[in-house]
Amino acid sequence: MRKIAVLGSTGSIGTQTLEVVRENDDIQVTALAAGSNAELLEQQAREFRPRLVSLQDEEKAKTLAVRLADTGIRVLSGMDGLVAAATEETAQIVVTAVVGMIGIRPTVAAIEAGKDIALANKETLVTAGHLIMPLAKERGVRILPVDSEHSAIFQCLNGEGQNRIDKILLTASGGPFRGRTREELKNVRLEDALKHPNWSMGHKITIDSSTMVNKGLEVMEARWLFGVEIGDVQVVVQPQSIIHSMVQFEDGAVMAQLGTPDMKLPIQYALLYPERRFMPGKRLDFGTLRSIAFEAPDFVNFPGLAMAYEAGKAGGTMPTVFNAANEWAVAAFLKRKIGYLQITDIIGEAMAHHRKKEDPDLDEILQTETETYSYIEDRW
Ligand code: NDP
Ligand code: MG
Repeated sequence: MRKIAVLGSTGSIGTQTLEVVRENDDIQVTALAAGSNAELLEQQAREFRPRLVSLQDEEKAKTLAVRLADTGIRVLSGMDGLVAAATEETAQIVVTAVVGMIGIRPTVAAIEAGKDIALANKETLVTAGHLIMPLAKERGVRILPVDSEHSAIFQCLNGEGQNRIDKILLTASGGPFRGRTREELKNVRLEDALKHPNWSMGHKITIDSSTMVNKGLEVMEARWLFGVEIGDVQVVVQPQSIIHSMVQFEDGAVMAQLGTPDMKLPIQYALLYPERRFMPGKRLDFGTLRSIAFEAPDFVNFPGLAMAYEAGKAGGTMPTVFNAANEWAVAAFLKRKIGYLQITDIIGEAMAHHRKKEDPDLDEILQTETETYSYIEDRW
């Protein structure tokens, strides 16, 4: 029996993780945590019978505790509850599927408690990878990627032992606005940005995919997960999202992982690693597919990707500024408070203003997040 805790269980990755659990009767859920969706969390609690559940929202957690009183499930709230879910005694794997830097503390706590991490929450690795990866090594826990590209890279590395990675070829769909100029992007509406051509995901990552900021975050995520330099991660646009990423080795050989776009595959692979097991769903049909297309990424009209490389190369607190500014700007765009192009304008301004600290600890990272928010709030 594999026992898992799911942080962010009511979201896109969280609900798909629970679908995988439903299909595999040797995976058991021991803790669930969410933000404010008490109704869905209650349903999940009744179906999966974890030992504890937690909601960020304290009031809703109180009501939920009353509603779940017949079940004996502990109900907690806030950051303490999220950390308790991440460290639930019997869990072996913690799926980090909360969105944003809120994931840092529970991820660190889970690693310290010796849990393997099935990592979806890329913002955590982007901002604190220099702390998380050594900590995981020290505690002997595995960081199993859930992000489809990183799962692909992880799969391409199977059996490669100590063979050095020459280059990671990180594929990108290019999002709904691939091929457009900045001029054409000026009047993008929220509804347009929320339409991803190939994947159905949470709102924040869907916007990030449209700006290519998601790919920038993934470049930094890859760097930490696979121990390569930022410059050794190359973005390749593959509009059909069939090649999920590739690895080039020193002899010039390139390994790729292909499949239909379905997040349940990387989720199941992370939960059952190294085992592969039957999964229902569509298979690739090369007869109808005929060709797989590639393009170079457009750094000019999608400056978010260039800024991510810049932040990743600078290191220290700069990736936190990049990420925090993006989190602020995307939240504002989702509330229709700013225009589409202002998302990357805000990231650029916050980075230009920031004086970088090297090798920040957890408190300094969280302080940089707060400072970035207040800098932006004063100006926008
Ligand atoms: P969603 O917005 O769909 O879900 C986010 C989840 O986090 C929800 O369960 C939400 O709860 C919960 N949450 C939000 N704030 C808090 C909080 N303060 N405390 C506890 N729980 C909280 O996001 P996604 O599933 O799309 O993405 C999750 C992460 O996975 C992101 O980091 C994303 O980049 C990454 N990822 C996602 C992919 C996808 O296909 N969706 C692909 C690859 C990576 P509530 O519902 O109650 O608000
Ligand atoms: Mg991805």
